Amino acid sequence: MNEHHRAGGGFRNPWPTAEGLHKNTGDMLRWMLERFSNPGAPNPKPHEVPRAQPAIARPVASPDELRTTYVGHATFLLQLNGLNLLTDPVWSERASPVQWAGPRRFSPPGIDWKELPPIHAVLLSHDHYDHLDADTAHRLATRFPDALWVTPLGYTRLLQGFGVRFVHELDWWQDVTLRGESGEVRVIATPAQHWTRRIGTRPNERLWCSFVLQTDNASIYFGGDSGFCPAFEEIGARYAPFDHVLLPIGAYEPRWFMKPAHMNPEEAVEAYRALGGTGKFIGMHWGTFRLTDEPPLEPPVRVAEAWRAAGLSDEDLCVLSIGETLITSCTSDLRRVS
Ligand code: ZN
Ligand code: ZN
Repeated sequence: MNEHHRAGGGFRNPWPTAEGLHKNTGDMLRWMLERFSNPGAPNPKPHEVPRAQPAIARPVASPDELRTTYVGHATFLLQLNGLNLLTDPVWSERASPVQWAGPRRFSPPGIDWKELPPIHAVLLSHDHYDHLDADTAHRLATRFPDALWVTPLGYTRLLQGFGVRFVHELDWWQDVTLRGESGEVRVIATPAQHWTRRIGTRPNERLWCSFVLQTDNASIYFGGDSGFCPAFEEIGARYAPFDHVLLPIGAYEPRWFMKPAHMNPEEAVEAYRALGGTGKFIGMHWGTFRLTDEPPLEPPVRVAEAWRAAGLSDEDLCVLSIGETLITSCTSDLRRVS
């Protein structure tokens, strides 16, 4: 079970699909030269990115509904069973260790910072700058000091440095139950095929993960960042069916470089099917920061094509606009895990 732990400390991806994930300087140079000779289309203007008004439940959603609001990139507000959760929160202007350089957002956050409801917990999938932003973490820790941050292994000291008081680290397949005034949510850290590194650390000192969220009548999968790998089938076998399936659909070109760490839209549709093929597919990791070489507004177009080609139901494809809220009724009590 611990084949993702490296013998000398740190972590690894235990699947053959991860081969070639770690690049050398020559690979970086090749990619930089490719980008230099073919810089691609300019970033979209903010008005070209689809946007909607959020429908946030205040202070919390009723227990019989699930509300998922897309803030942008990997940031969502999840409202379920009396709790408000944020995933991979980034409100800053740049996804970068510094705010004077690095990828700049081309669409503002879908929820204005001042409009956030009380936040009970933050789910963090890994330490990359487009998922863990120091300034946002510090602002959240100041505004919601009692929030619990749920992370993979290795994040407590880093988050304490940002002022976060409560951190609960999970290894893959471990879980924690979050309890609010009006309900509880079970959070399970599940595998993903990815890697970690921030300035000052070596690769994979910290773990990365995806998450499953369960209540008595609802279930969500949040994919974080991942290449396509056998984990999806295993997660589906253990925890399907899901109501909302949040999967990354952006940051995939060039494939020779990105494939082991980032799915393309076609692979994201494959991952949805491997996860059991139920519930609403919600595309993420697009429409916010340009990290790679595909045209920034291409992912939803390609995911819709792949969806149709796979013969899946149109009503289950929900690539949300920035700020859009998906509201689903929870009617089943069959999702309780024994
Ligand atoms: Zn990442
Ligand atoms: Zn990412």
